[in-house]
Amino acid sequence: MFDKLKEECGIFAIYNSEDAATKAALGLHALQHRGQEAAGIVTMDGECFSTHFADGLVSDNFTSQEVVDKLCGNSAIGHVRYSTIGKKTAQNFQPIYAELSLGFFALAHNGNLTNTNKIRNCLIKKGSIFQSTMDSEIIIHLIALSQKSTLSEKIIDAVLQIEGAYSLVMLHKDGIIAIRDPYGVRPLVIGKLGDSYIFASESCALDIIGAKFIRDVKAGEMVTVDENGINSSQPFAKKPSKFCIFEYIYFARPDSNIDGKNVYEMRKNIGIELAKEVKIDADIVVPVPDSGVPAAIGYASESKIPFELGIIRNHYVGRTFIEPTDNIRNFGVKLKHNANSSTIKGKKVILVDDSIVRGTTSKKIVQMIRDAGATKVYLLIASPPTISPCFYGVDTPDKNQLIAAKKSPQEIAKIIGADGVFYVSISSLYKAINKESRNNENPQYCDACFTDEYPIPLVDKDGSELPLFNFRK
Ligand code: SF4
Repeated sequence: MFDKLKEECGIFAIYNSEDAATKAALGLHALQHRGQEAAGIVTMDGECFSTHFADGLVSDNFTSQEVVDKLCGNSAIGHVRYSTIGKKTAQNFQPIYAELSLGFFALAHNGNLTNTNKIRNCLIKKGSIFQSTMDSEIIIHLIALSQKSTLSEKIIDAVLQIEGAYSLVMLHKDGIIAIRDPYGVRPLVIGKLGDSYIFASESCALDIIGAKFIRDVKAGEMVTVDENGINSSQPFAKKPSKFCIFEYIYFARPDSNIDGKNVYEMRKNIGIELAKEVKIDADIVVPVPDSGVPAAIGYASESKIPFELGIIRNHYVGRTFIEPTDNIRNFGVKLKHNANSSTIKGKKVILVDDSIVRGTTSKKIVQMIRDAGATKVYLLIASPPTISPCFYGVDTPDKNQLIAAKKSPQEIAKIIGADGVFYVSISSLYKAINKESRNNENPQYCDACFTDEYPIPLVDKDGSELPLFNFRK
């Protein structure tokens, strides 16, 4: 759970519910794994809007009667954040809101835009005044400046100019609008509870409020809900689907269903495929909690090697990855995990984890298993080597910090002190998730962090355009 790629953000929206703010808080609580740095909710009662933002967890900041009473209105949108673009300051809280020519407007965004600098520089030169360093703010400016007549037309006009990964929920005085980018990189689902409509990053946020899953928002689709009901249009040309394959591996909650696939089942399937590829003479299969558990179950069932909880996780420790220094991260390993030595002593152990990023945590865990008396320690990874950073909404270290970008599995094994390190291959990953092989000409998912093949142009990264202003980090 640390030394991992960091989840992006989670978004939630509800229309026509008496206790919209409470349901938004519950929905965001279910999406907390997608961002723990800050949260925000904006509500609308048809006339006035209300806001509340706070650093930290939803359960610590959005459950008091005082906050719920403040957030009045039958519609709400919310956001949990781990900053991928933009500094960690109050100006970078979401949802972002503004008074536009057509009235109040608020927006929450999951994903990263890839042509922010170009648009932002152009807007600044035209006189736009930015309040934050978030890429999402350019969307509001583009909407505000659009010469189209209706709000929907202005939104379409704005969204046609942005590139990258974006699932958006937007609140205005008459309803809610949800949009998913033409590649469908980040998830977004629609639910219903009585007469209320809900949008959420993942289906687990529908479950918590008892809402029924209706369907995923389609790539390139715009869905509006207002007093006329729900309406769908496809104003953005649909591109080949590039849903983030890492959502299935690690980001999404295992009890979520994305694109008709249950995330837990997908992770078990990856473990099964891993067992078909990597056969090891061992006594027990031990997951690295919690993210390695489903793949370890799959590996154990296919290999017929007993599954054991050889590492016990302390659930009462905060997520240390928010702390930036290696020292804190390493300390965090011992705070969070302890080897169950009675299970491990004298055994050849297969450890299963979902991914290796820098390798710092893996090294500590392997050492912990050895200290508990294991005779052999093999580390099996339920994803291909992570060799490239993400530019579509996941906070990844630079390429030179990704251990697999520079080192072979044998070299990594030596560095982390394991008797072997093995990854699932990209073709078996596709088989596990998609039941068909990767189409190498046009892959069915975004898998750029494993292949270095970026499906959406990285305008900011590749172009000559730099921000007009550099913000101190
Ligand atoms: S680069 Fe990796 S983490 Fe980013 S969207 Fe693609 S698969 Fe997901």
